[in-house]
Amino acid sequence: MSLTRAENISKMLTEKGVSPSIQRIKILQFILDNEHHSSVDIIYQELIHEIPTLSKTTVYNTLALFVEKGIINSITIDNTEILYEKSQKPHAHFQCNICKNIIDIELDSNLYGITEIEKNRVEKVNIHLRGICSKCLKNESINI
Ligand SMILES: [Zn+2]
Ligand SMILES: [Zn+2]
Repeated sequence: MSLTRAENISKMLTEKGVSPSIQRIKILQFILDNEHHSSVDIIYQELIHEIPTLSKTTVYNTLALFVEKGIINSITIDNTEILYEKSQKPHAHFQCNICKNIIDIELDSNLYGITEIEKNRVEKVNIHLRGICSKCLKNESINI
């Protein structure tokens, strides 16, 4: 018998040492199903309809726990909001100056696994590029 989606996610949490509450399962499911990088606000707005007892603090704390356990990734661009995405192999992020979309970029870099640089301890590596995305470039050329 195959497991349901919720059962699979519940199993995933248990394997990572996180006890699987309904809220945790829903939050993780949202991140796994979402292609984009989601903020606490986005996740809260999406799930509040399903879980009326949900608070932003719970969302924030749950995401922080998932990051700590290596279940998901957190990224910060421009030191504004923290965004969350499913864990995958290290990649860079490209943000468009026009549509503000954040795109995952496959980029090979020796920086990802680095733990020390010029005697400084590295705790996190974020590679961000900024510019105009291919879609906006296309729109630009149409509008000229
Ligand atoms: Zn764009
Ligand atoms: Zn990403």
